[in-house]
Amino acid sequence: MDTKCIHHHGDGITDDEAYLWLNGVVPPIYLSNGEKPSLNPTRQALEQTLTCLDNAKQPTLTYASGLATATSVCLTLLKKDDHVIVVDDAYSGITNLFQTCLNRWSIHSSFINLSLSPSIITQHLQSNTRLVWLESPSNPSLRLVDINIISTLVHSYDSSIIIVVDNTFATPFNQSPLELGADLCLSSLTKYINGHTDVIGGCLSMNRKDLYDKFLSSQSLFEMNLSPFDCYLVRRGLNTLSLRIHQHTKNAYYVAQFLAQHPAIERIFYPALPSHPQYEIYKKQGGASGMCSYILNKNANVRQFLMSLKLCTVAVSLGGCETLIESPALMTHRSTLYANETNEQMSENLIRMSVGLENIQDIIKDLDQALYKSINQDKINQNEINSDDWELIEEAKRVSHRLHQPYLHTVVAVLRTISGHIYSGIHIESSQAYATVCGEVSAISSMVNDGHRDLATIIAICGFDDDKNRFKIMSPCGRCRELIGDFNPNAQVIVGTIDKPYRMAISDLMPLKSCLIINENDE
Ligand code: PLP
Repeated sequence: MDTKCIHHHGDGITDDEAYLWLNGVVPPIYLSNGEKPSLNPTRQALEQTLTCLDNAKQPTLTYASGLATATSVCLTLLKKDDHVIVVDDAYSGITNLFQTCLNRWSIHSSFINLSLSPSIITQHLQSNTRLVWLESPSNPSLRLVDINIISTLVHSYDSSIIIVVDNTFATPFNQSPLELGADLCLSSLTKYINGHTDVIGGCLSMNRKDLYDKFLSSQSLFEMNLSPFDCYLVRRGLNTLSLRIHQHTKNAYYVAQFLAQHPAIERIFYPALPSHPQYEIYKKQGGASGMCSYILNKNANVRQFLMSLKLCTVAVSLGGCETLIESPALMTHRSTLYANETNEQMSENLIRMSVGLENIQDIIKDLDQALYKSINQDKINQNEINSDDWELIEEAKRVSHRLHQPYLHTVVAVLRTISGHIYSGIHIESSQAYATVCGEVSAISSMVNDGHRDLATIIAICGFDDDKNRFKIMSPCGRCRELIGDFNPNAQVIVGTIDKPYRMAISDLMPLKSCLIINENDE
């Protein structure tokens, strides 16, 4: 599969491609729109690769978005008075398509939770059922359904019912719906497949020739094609899909393990953890990628959590290099009628997270500090900064300013002892994470070398490599927290932002020391 992402034939560039690509090693962007969409060589290059990844017997077709692909499936296959079965926690756009749009044209949908038991589907099949819409893992609850059992049950009831699987969360690397018996495999290219949060697209793969013919003709009918430039970008993104998915999955696994032990978390849903309700399905079918979701416990303030995140971006998309996080009830699924259909209220405390490719320790550190604030809002509000603390901040800025070096991160840690002495430690490094540790540790070492062990307050400030007047307050790293705690478990640290700093007792940060020990060689 790694090779197929780059050379769909497995044997490198074919003679035909060499001719079409003007002897280049990547397809050029053909903008000409005079031909049928399927004949555009840039689109063809993308579609051929996707066909290989989905292991499809017919050529994969691409569309202007994941939702355009879904719309095209419905417009091509459904008519008035047809019935559709849809998993009850599908992506909100899909639920809305069936519930608010197709419903108006007398296409009726039943929204069913099929993850509890696949055989439930037999109770909902009707003589006019034409389509079964599965999403595994589902967005946002990460529920899995047994694609193979459901496909067998549905096809033995009526072989003409079409089973669609939305494979967006899993990706072709982690799940192969067509091999499990589905008729159509849909992916939003917007997410992992392109992987760089800069394209909107979708694709549809299938084995049956009759279906392919229908979709090929409806493709020119609806004109929901992916533009050649976007085809080029997605094709380029595919070169690194294997590497990205590998790292996304590894990072998400660590995040899930970290959250599973965290006092602010009530429940975590990650398919590869044995605690996942459909772990048995995961073991045979796959489906774990960089997506996980979790429920903050009832004492946690979800808005405070989201607002306190720094590295993780609060945004609705997913599958890109950067870690994105959201509350579906407040954001993506706000307009879905999910709750009415299922009689199950989607909790505002449910968080969906697309774990990105940043260093895993940085992701965990950010989650850690934001979760802490979500359950300790009172402590934070009480800990306003005083004039002595401003003095430390100004001192750290002054040192950082003086020693600023372009292209290198400067981390200055300044501390005050109970007896009033001020010490500073500085470290200049190309890696910000490493510089933080060293800056704090060297401030503590100067204090100890001077015979003091009465640490009172410490702050670490990072000066940006590109601008000596820009600063950021760093929260203490795990190693430094332990070190400070050894001297004085009630020592204060200054955290927050440079405009809104606040004080906290290091002992209050300690419960969050649940940071994982990560073995970089762990596969
Ligand atoms: N399917 C799933 C599971 C999704 O999460 C999304 C979007 O979030 C879509 C389909 C729709 O994809 P697009 O944004 O490309 O229209």
